[in-house]
Amino acid sequence: MTVTRFAPSPNGSLHLGHAYAAIVAHDRAREGQGRFQLRIEDIDGTRSRAELADEFRADLEWLGLEWEEVPAQSTRLASYDAAARNLLERGLLYPCTCTRAEIEALEPHLGPDGLVYPGTCKGRELDIGKPLALRFDVGKAMAEVGDIWWEDELAGRMRADPREAGDVVIVRKDSPASYHLAATLDDAADGVTLVTRGQDLFYATNVHRLLQALLGLPVPRWHHHGLLMDADGKKLSKSRHSPSLADRRRAGEDGLALAEEMRQGRFPAGITLAST
Ligand code: GLU
Ligand code: ZN
Repeated sequence: MTVTRFAPSPNGSLHLGHAYAAIVAHDRAREGQGRFQLRIEDIDGTRSRAELADEFRADLEWLGLEWEEVPAQSTRLASYDAAARNLLERGLLYPCTCTRAEIEALEPHLGPDGLVYPGTCKGRELDIGKPLALRFDVGKAMAEVGDIWWEDELAGRMRADPREAGDVVIVRKDSPASYHLAATLDDAADGVTLVTRGQDLFYATNVHRLLQALLGLPVPRWHHHGLLMDADGKKLSKSRHSPSLADRRRAGEDGLALAEEMRQGRFPAGITLAST
């Protein structure tokens, strides 16, 4: 049975790109007589807004999707903490006190998700009193697990190489996990068998696959779909001004018709589906 999920973060209203992602996840589950889950990814205490979760549910209903809701990330902090301790005790995480400005000053190279951390704090004496994050010692972790692979429904079989993303943060300064750790643990706990999401998270899958190998978690399959682009060829995002799903819903637009059009590959004016 196929189990998929849509995992929005409640830090801004959903836009068409999210609708597309939710429809892909929903439909892939339905094709396999499976289950489609909604998971609210609210570990970012400073940016999460509780009322947005209700807005998201109303948006999904408006699109005609049916889902099963699994517990929000804010209720699962103990599991993130236990996994982080496990990795820390095995010497696979190291503390980092660098600020963003300090990392930028090192002029690190640009990876798929922005600056690649150059490993400055590895082996460095701790600067007690400064807030710290825990970073993944990706090189050491790779040496421990050897060659690992993952399978994308569209791109095929891939060799996991998380080094491209660098030593990503696993436990943030201000929260008990990072997206990488929390999402990987939750997908396993919720029995997700097919992780569908945008191609912008392709690189992250390498990190997630490595975490699965280290923590003995089941390995799902992936499906990285194309991203919706606006008229300037930029990825739609919460910060760019395309009307949100909530705006469209409140303006009386027909959500069922919109979902059906997108399934046929037709998008509102100026919006296109790009795949790399
Ligand atoms: N909360 C993440 C986001 O909104 C989920 C990404 C994923 O599907 O893994 O980008
Ligand atoms: Zn550092």
